Amino acid sequence: MVAERPIRTYLDYNATAPLRREARAAVVAALDTAGNPSSVHAEGRAARQLVETARADVGRLAGVPARCVTFVSGATEAANAALNPRLGLGPAEPPLERLIVSAGEHPCVLHGHRFPPSAVETAPLLGDGRIDLDWLADACRRPGRALLALQGANNETGVVQPVAAAAAIVHAAGGFVFCDAVQLAGRVAFSLAGLGADALALSAHKLGGPKGAGALISASAGTSLGHPLLRGGGQERGVRAGTENVASIAGFGAAAEIAAIEAADETPRLAALRQRLADAVREAAPDAVEFGRDAPRLANTLCFAVPGIEASTLMIALDLAGVAVSSGAACSSGKVAPSHVLAAMGVAPDLARGAIRLSVGWGSTERDVERFSAAFCAAARRIRAGRSRVADLASEAGRV
Ligand code: PLP
Repeated sequence: MVAERPIRTYLDYNATAPLRREARAAVVAALDTAGNPSSVHAEGRAARQLVETARADVGRLAGVPARCVTFVSGATEAANAALNPRLGLGPAEPPLERLIVSAGEHPCVLHGHRFPPSAVETAPLLGDGRIDLDWLADACRRPGRALLALQGANNETGVVQPVAAAAAIVHAAGGFVFCDAVQLAGRVAFSLAGLGADALALSAHKLGGPKGAGALISASAGTSLGHPLLRGGGQERGVRAGTENVASIAGFGAAAEIAAIEAADETPRLAALRQRLADAVREAAPDAVEFGRDAPRLANTLCFAVPGIEASTLMIALDLAGVAVSSGAACSSGKVAPSHVLAAMGVAPDLARGAIRLSVGWGSTERDVERFSAAFCAAARRIRAGRSRVADLASEAGRV
């Protein structure tokens, strides 16, 4: 007898979106392609074809020609590669002197750049989660050409940054802009030109592709990406050495192809699901605080806290009830420190410690909302009644 798999409700698309069927098929097919994309024989050319098809698909998603796409292992590598003092510069130009990062950036930007600490300035966020553009304009009046790192949308709150407006300020001062567009891709329609950025980072696993593939996208094939991180063979136009991860790249391409077609139509559906999730939270916990709701936000993300309830307690209770959510950023799960994003928005540490993130995506349905609502209502009641021990929660979970 085959054991039935328990039904799970997955509300953590901003950490990783489930693999799309089409992406899985592309990965499996590519695994059976023997050749090295750098080889000239038929097997090699078949592997090269897979990589180049994916390059065109990822380029289309970001509104750029295929030649502007460099495949890397993920957005972390893209940020580490791009955020160096020679990004965007010609060979004769002196290096960039300053890096400005918004306070809500992902750790791969905050800690992954290659500027000396003395060159780094942090752009504050307003209370609604958006970058303070007045601060940025003042900063750009100071001497020294700058590179701005500003994400398209925040992974914890979903707040969408005014990248185009920020880029106009930075460009007017002769600087460059790197945009971590990881959370935009597959959630909304976007393009590199619309964002006004010089370089973008994308990650396959956030839009239904496999983990371990990403892209660094430049405004033109001639844009200097500065010192490569990986040196060796001449793969990826000499920018990123090493035999291409053909299977993951093929899966990335398949997921990007669907995302490019569906993103705009998905937005209203995801917004409706998010609204129902927010209603469920408010009904069970009228004092819940929703973060980022005064700013433009991704339609798929809901970040909230219930005063007096620790995120870890609630997250475990929901997990036991079959519902996967995240407390703040998945990468920082297990850390007790409250989110740096909420701190930058001025959220009090006590409240921030309760921050839970729900994020929906291509596979989410009304049924997920119903299961979350039932589990959340039971968990919040139980925790508030003071019975927050895991054993108690587990027994409660059995009844949800
Ligand atoms: N940037 C943002 C906004 C993210 O949410 C993530 C993933 O957590 C990353 C960058 C890192 O992406 P990857 O897992 O591809 O390195």
